[in-house]
Amino acid sequence: MRTEDLPEIHLDTTIPARRGDLFRLAAGQTLRFIDVDGQQCSDLIAFDANDMTRAMSPTMSVAVNDGHLYLGVGDWLVDDDGDVMLTIVADTVQDHDILCGSCSPGLNRTRHHGRGAGKRTCHVNFVEALREYGIPAEDVPYSFNIFMNYPVGPDGEMEYATCKSVPGDYIDLRAERDLIVAISNCPQELTPLNGFNPTPSRVIIYSTEEGTDV
Ligand SMILES: [Zn+2]
Repeated sequence: MRTEDLPEIHLDTTIPARRGDLFRLAAGQTLRFIDVDGQQCSDLIAFDANDMTRAMSPTMSVAVNDGHLYLGVGDWLVDDDGDVMLTIVADTVQDHDILCGSCSPGLNRTRHHGRGAGKRTCHVNFVEALREYGIPAEDVPYSFNIFMNYPVGPDGEMEYATCKSVPGDYIDLRAERDLIVAISNCPQELTPLNGFNPTPSRVIIYSTEEGTDV
């Protein structure tokens, strides 16, 4: 469904480039994440709003979606127990990463050999977004990385590539229970993922009449 035709909208906001934000989703509501300017990947983590010890698990999400690494429409994001938190109900890019977690001071230190020291990271954005819930940095869970273009080749090789998303591309995630969701617009400039130019994103939370797919 076109963004301008979305039904009952509860929230319509912008996340600035290089920053993160926190969202509360009631069961049945859908979060539309829009890449405003294109070539921007953004990391998403989720918690059960009624039990913050239950976080979305990328590893378990790969396991339950039976046989494919690249999640798409109809696939689930689940918690450590395999219980569904979010369902992908629309996706105009169909290219996301679920293996590599978030950029962080540790990633910059080790993977990038110290480059980017002192730069903003998705991990820092999550720590800040979750501060009101008292979640320490070491307990920030691994993320599902929207539009992140980091494909796995036939021999297991991986190489960062610029996101395929163009302006206006989106993914819709329907909450299957009450959730706290945090999203970070990836500030990473050490790889071509964001075209070396991190940009803002837009988040809309909406409901359909019957909570059905759009
Ligand atoms: Zn990042």
